[in-house]
Amino acid sequence: MRMNEETFLKVEHLRKEFDLKVSWIKAIFKGKKKTVKAVDDVSFEIKRGETLGIVGESGSGKTTLGRTVIRLIEPTSGKIIMDNTDLTKLKGDVLRKARRDFSIIFQDPMASLNPYMRIGKIVSHPLEIHNIGTKQERKEKILSLFEKFNLTPPEEFYNRFPKYLSGGQRQRVVIARALITNPKFIVADEPTAMLDVSVRSQILKLMIQVKEEFKLTYLFITHDLAGAKYICDRIGVMYLGRIIEIAKKEDIFKEPLHPYTKILMSAIPIPDPNTKREKLMPKGEIPSATNIPKGCRFHTRCPFAKDICKEQEPELRDIGGRLVACHLV
Ligand code: SF4
Repeated sequence: MRMNEETFLKVEHLRKEFDLKVSWIKAIFKGKKKTVKAVDDVSFEIKRGETLGIVGESGSGKTTLGRTVIRLIEPTSGKIIMDNTDLTKLKGDVLRKARRDFSIIFQDPMASLNPYMRIGKIVSHPLEIHNIGTKQERKEKILSLFEKFNLTPPEEFYNRFPKYLSGGQRQRVVIARALITNPKFIVADEPTAMLDVSVRSQILKLMIQVKEEFKLTYLFITHDLAGAKYICDRIGVMYLGRIIEIAKKEDIFKEPLHPYTKILMSAIPIPDPNTKREKLMPKGEIPSATNIPKGCRFHTRCPFAKDICKEQEPELRDIGGRLVACHLV
């Protein structure tokens, strides 16, 4: 499938539903099984070389979206077209080969590194799976990447176990592993969430540096809006499985349009103690994804909700070049 040259990734009407397991007693007495709509009809595009941020609170479905886009999780329905290939149609060996073109950086570097494997072996693993290079060539490639990532002396890091590394060094190793097959696309799932504030900016800088060098396209998932502002070109805001606003980062931060985006932005601390900003608060907790409210899914918490909001689900509409799903915008 040919897309316009600029578009690298096109996601169309993507859904991911999980059946909730219930005991047979509950199934008999409470009837129908429940379904979690983690990703509920999501469409977006990412340009080649662009970083699209996906922000939202816990339970918004952003992590499931990231994993489904690279088929770590199988989509329930929808299309994922990456670099003119329909990923949703790939199977078996063809899918396995395609996997060297995309990768993921997980949130918790300690949990994503096997504690019983040496760092060199961990980073070499994707090369072995895809049968790339000889043993010596793999080692040379890893050592040069370690040098670039300030994991020096590289030979020493190659032979270390993960527990002897700091949090920042572990995340550098995770990034090195993600890049070792020269992918074109990376899903970064909260890559700085487990790191100290002082290390976060170093990791974000490293990600920007390697993006230029490796000509990468990023899907950057985060709840850290300051990090998103630093690294992203455009930002999509997710709420209960759906994107409710998507725009250039300058527009989102300068003038958020959707009430939920306004609430998220009003929570960002201002570094000047003399400047006050009105803090908007959503009502209550995010509803369960097994029971998404009828009408606008945000209406149970929205401070501006009207009657129409309880009945009709707003579509994502183009408003001056940005997409917003709200009846009142
Ligand atoms: Fe709030 Fe209504 Fe807009 Fe939904 S559609 S965000 S409930 S104003």
